[in-house]
Amino acid sequence: MKINIPKLSFIALIGVANEEKSTFIQKHFSSNEMISLDYYKGVISNDKNAPDTAKDAFDIAKYSIQKRLQRGYLTAIDATNLQSSDRKDLVHLAKKHHVLPVAIVMNQKKDNSRSHKNRTDQHFLELKKAGFKQIFILNSREEIEAVNIIREKSPNDKSEFIGPFDIIGDVHGCFSELSTLLTKLGYTIIKHQNKMNNYGYSVLPPRNRKAIFVGDLVDRGPASNEVLRLAMSMVKNETGLCVIGNHDEKLLKKLNGRDVQIRYGLAETLEQLAKEPSQFVEEVREFLHNLVDHYILDNGQLVIAHAGLKEEMHGRISNAVRNYCMYGETTGKKDDFGLPIRKNWAKEYNGEAMVIYGHTPVPKPEFINNTANIDTGCVFGGNLTALRYPEKEFISVKAEKVWSEPTRPLNLPQNVESKDLIDQPKKNI
Ligand code: MN
Repeated sequence: MKINIPKLSFIALIGVANEEKSTFIQKHFSSNEMISLDYYKGVISNDKNAPDTAKDAFDIAKYSIQKRLQRGYLTAIDATNLQSSDRKDLVHLAKKHHVLPVAIVMNQKKDNSRSHKNRTDQHFLELKKAGFKQIFILNSREEIEAVNIIREKSPNDKSEFIGPFDIIGDVHGCFSELSTLLTKLGYTIIKHQNKMNNYGYSVLPPRNRKAIFVGDLVDRGPASNEVLRLAMSMVKNETGLCVIGNHDEKLLKKLNGRDVQIRYGLAETLEQLAKEPSQFVEEVREFLHNLVDHYILDNGQLVIAHAGLKEEMHGRISNAVRNYCMYGETTGKKDDFGLPIRKNWAKEYNGEAMVIYGHTPVPKPEFINNTANIDTGCVFGGNLTALRYPEKEFISVKAEKVWSEPTRPLNLPQNVESKDLIDQPKKNI
């Protein structure tokens, strides 16, 4: 049996103590990775059976697990003798650090098949209720021995791509400006007569370079369909990467048949897509569906996310991470224009990796603590900006016109506060 888990997982093992279990633990986990409650009981008390020893040992175990998950290390614990509320605590801990909670149950068949099956079902339900995302049940000695645990690299980990890159800000359907910018950066764009050929475009990058889109390819602008064609062709041919923006996500929801409000420029995109063959629209849906929320590049030195990403979330996978990537943090307050005031995470950022993002239009791109916002509001009549990496050079082209009236003037300082309490994003702007 193959057990595929992310490289960074939290694993709870459940099964009565026997030879197979100890062999299994030794075979699949290093001694650092395996947290032992029994060991901690011995550390804190001369009498393992003294009152509260188990509880205190569990507290230390939780503390150790937390510290390891914070550092990004896979961690496992033998959770056989834990109460279900304790197991819930562990799941909570894993989720807090955006780590997938996995349960592996060793439930060897010893008695008649009916009670064995009942036990299996009961385990499954209990663990599911506790919040484990993946549950593997091993039913025999043979199954336990045959297990192959495969630690998978997460889809957002492209740290082997070391650049050089041209990172491109929010395009929002500004196809003409995108073409001009790519040409300025040294890319050659070939337009095909047959739109089925590479989605209609082949883009040849300058030597060794790769383009990266920070998301929000669509909405408000005049040609979101063409921007999609070009970006999809680059991603397909591995000359480009793209992370998902909040506008891309909303379009995906719409294409998936969900009931979304048609505002903030989505109507224009839908009009443009209505002129396209349905097969292409289906390919757009698939493309958007496959977009990750952030990328880790250049041996962990570069992170790309639509609205930025704080360090503790780099490389992690969870709904909270995805939302942060797409919307950032807002303070829960609104500005004079009715737009949510955003938390200035960049001001407090002191991570090692450079984080490049867009989402909130700024009049001019600049570096703040090893982060840069390169959304210079092209669709609102500003610029379309690229950051050349590792050169740290901004290249911009001017918008050909104001394609969409901004809700608030572009040249006002960013509407962000840094000290307010964090609130969940509510509005899709
Ligand atoms: Mn945007």
